[in-house]
This record gives sequence, structure tokens and C-alpha cells, in this order.
Amino acid sequence: MRYIYGPIKSRRLGLSLGLSLTLDKVCDLDCIYCQWGSVGKTVLERKEYVKAEEIIQELKSWMQNHPQETQELKFVTLSGLGEPTLNTCIGDLIDQVRNVTGLNIAVITNSTLLGDPAVRKGVLKADLIVPSLDAVNQEMFNKIDRPHTGIKLNEIINGLIALRKEFRGKIWLEVMFIAGINDGPRHIEELNKVIQRINPDKIQLNSPVRSTAEKDVFPVEKAKLEKIKMILGDKAEIV
Ligand code: SF4
Repeated sequence: MRYIYGPIKSRRLGLSLGLSLTLDKVCDLDCIYCQWGSVGKTVLERKEYVKAEEIIQELKSWMQNHPQETQELKFVTLSGLGEPTLNTCIGDLIDQVRNVTGLNIAVITNSTLLGDPAVRKGVLKADLIVPSLDAVNQEMFNKIDRPHTGIKLNEIINGLIALRKEFRGKIWLEVMFIAGINDGPRHIEELNKVIQRINPDKIQLNSPVRSTAEKDVFPVEKAKLEKIKMILGDKAEIV
């Protein structure tokens, strides 16, 4: 299988099948915590890295060969190796996956392209969007997410606010906390203000547990995450 991964069982989504919209890691960020490691470059060009039809063919064949698991699936998740919204076929793919599976569709995105109305138009077709936002000041964002030079944090935040206004499905905003970088009280206060403007349905607090792209990346202790959760309010949960 080239585009399918899983299925993966999670508390958040139940049994979900993952689809990658690229063959290799293609991303406009180079996060220090990336589980795929660093490929040493970022890519901002949107194009049809893989055709929707190719992914759909593989999906149909997987479903034929796994009838029992297909019955148990709750979600199809577009994510995979890199940033799925870099593939211009994402809106078309969501339509086709829905036709083939009849399942709910989630998009996991790093949020960088949500300032672009064409990107939002594509992802609006999903049922659930899980965008990430790790920092609300440019310096901290640069340190954690190491973006392509064309990416601006204020455009990401404005894109998330616009998405909330346009999207009828659920938004679960994910924040990855790295010990000693974005877990200080001042940043949490600023983050809280920005999150209130975005108004997601849930705020998912995460911290790296797997191997990361860089060596010196440490998770935030559970007790501290609990404190952050209290500050961010009822919508926040530790995942
Ligand atoms: S956005 Fe995701 S795929 Fe891209 S570098 Fe960050 S963690 Fe890795």
C-alpha cells in the first residue's frame, strides 16, 4: 500500500483508516518534534502530488480485501506523510472518499495554508478538521515549527478564525507543548486569548512521546499539562 496506513484505533476517532496525499514527506514546516524526522527542506508549492483517482483505487482495493475492518471503520483521516492541504486534489478527494465509503472524513492539518480561501473551500467538505497551532508569537513558532519563509503566523491565525466562520463541522485544535519552549505562563496566556478568537470545539493538548526530528525535544510533565488545561478551560483535553 502506498497511500493507506492503519487502520488505527484511537480514543478520539475510534477505528480510522489513514490516507496520505503524498508518497514522501512533503511539508511547509520542519517541526522539531516531527515523527517522520527532518528532510532538511520545506515545500510551499501546492500541486497534485498524487492524483485523487490513484488514492481511490487503492482505497477500493483495500476495502475489498478487508471487509470486516471496513465494516468497523468510523473515520477516514487525510493526513499522512506531510501536509495534506499541499495537494490541490484534497477537496475532490474528500468527495470521492465519501462516495466510496459513506464514512466521516477528518483532515489533520498544520494550519499553514488555511489563510488561502481555495484551501479552506477544499477542507470545508470534511466532517472534522484537526488543525494545529503550537505558538502565537513568530519567534516561538519559528523555533518549534521551523516554517518555510513564505509562512506567516498572523495569516495562519486569521485563516483559523475564517475557517471557524465558514465550517459547519467540528474543529479540534491541537497544540503540541515542548518543555521549556511554549509551556511558560506568558505564552499560555497569549495562546488562550488567540484560541478564544478561533473558538474551536475542542482544544487538544499534546506533548511528544515518540522519537522526534531533533534530539533535545522534551515532553511537558503531566502535572504541568493539567495546569495548562485548567487555564484553557472546559474545551481543553489532554490527548
Ligand atoms: S507539520 Fe506535521 S509532517 Fe510537517 S513537519 Fe510538522 S509534524 Fe512533520
